Amino acid sequence: MGSTTGAPAEIQDSILDTIGETPLVSLRRLEPDLRTPLAAKVELFNPGGSIKDRVAVAMIEAAERDGHLRPGGTIVEPTSGNTGTGLALAARLKGYRVIAVMPDKVSKEKIDLLRAYGAEVVVCPTNVDPQSPESYYNVADRLTAETPGAFRPNQYVNPANPDAHYRSTGPEIWRQSGGRITHLVAGVGTGGTITGCARHLREQNPDVVVIGADPVGSIFSSEVVKPYLVEGVGEDFWPQTFDPAVVDRYVTVSDRDAFLMTRKLARTEGLLVGGSGGLAVHAAVVVARELDDPGALVVVVLPDGGRSYLSKVFNDGWMAQHGFLERSTDRTVGDVML
Ligand code: PMP
Repeated sequence: MGSTTGAPAEIQDSILDTIGETPLVSLRRLEPDLRTPLAAKVELFNPGGSIKDRVAVAMIEAAERDGHLRPGGTIVEPTSGNTGTGLALAARLKGYRVIAVMPDKVSKEKIDLLRAYGAEVVVCPTNVDPQSPESYYNVADRLTAETPGAFRPNQYVNPANPDAHYRSTGPEIWRQSGGRITHLVAGVGTGGTITGCARHLREQNPDVVVIGADPVGSIFSSEVVKPYLVEGVGEDFWPQTFDPAVVDRYVTVSDRDAFLMTRKLARTEGLLVGGSGGLAVHAAVVVARELDDPGALVVVVLPDGGRSYLSKVFNDGWMAQHGFLERSTDRTVGDVML
């Protein structure tokens, strides 16, 4: 049936066509006395719930073009969850099997989510040497070698990862900020986000300052590499997808500061995001305070939503158990905020 009004129907061909074009939202309620404007790129709007949808589709389509992935093939990837979700989602529409290999520190909700999309999940121990055959990277290598028609996107090496941000996230930030962005703050996992966005933004304005928000204990900014609780950011090795030269400075953030800021974002801005978003915002506030400049614009990337972390950062018992709730203002009792 044709349209009676002659207006074109606004029907997306598939859910994959709704990836990207996420909103840039002002964070002016978070710290009302802050004079430097802050805006957040809210990536939970992607259909798989995170920034990694962009990367997952880009890596699959690059592999299809290069012949590494053929109809009926299997995608094997070590992932903390978000890339796996993007891959699983895209694989459903494109007809591939997905095996996601994860460290055991990942929340149960993330594992259940991947299974809901029809992915197979293999869980490996977190606190083993990266060289150990049990490490999740090595388990993924073995499964790739053993599975016929297997393709390993390898988000830590694949140039389609930073390229997805160079082609989509970076240009969106430039356009949505009206070209006024002066500082970009992003966490670094594979480094794809910060590398791709920084490259595009610097082509528009070479003076854009790029700040890496990094957990205490991550190799990028810490002398002592040690475990931490924030998921998705920081590493114990230098990924090939990360170009460290794009980073002007790091702000190193403790788990406590990252999680308290994550909770504050929910309460002040109604933005329920993951701990890596809170970590990046904590760093962005540090930068904005130092700048104290109403003419600047600090843009911070919020990689995913908070619903996957309800039993962790948003759970008072979990927070208290880790010693993160010391002040009474940090605590929620029932539905009463103290
Ligand atoms: N936050 C979360 C929750 C993530 O899953 C990731 C991806 N590992 C990042 C931040 C970091 O993004 P990137 O890999 O592009 O550096």
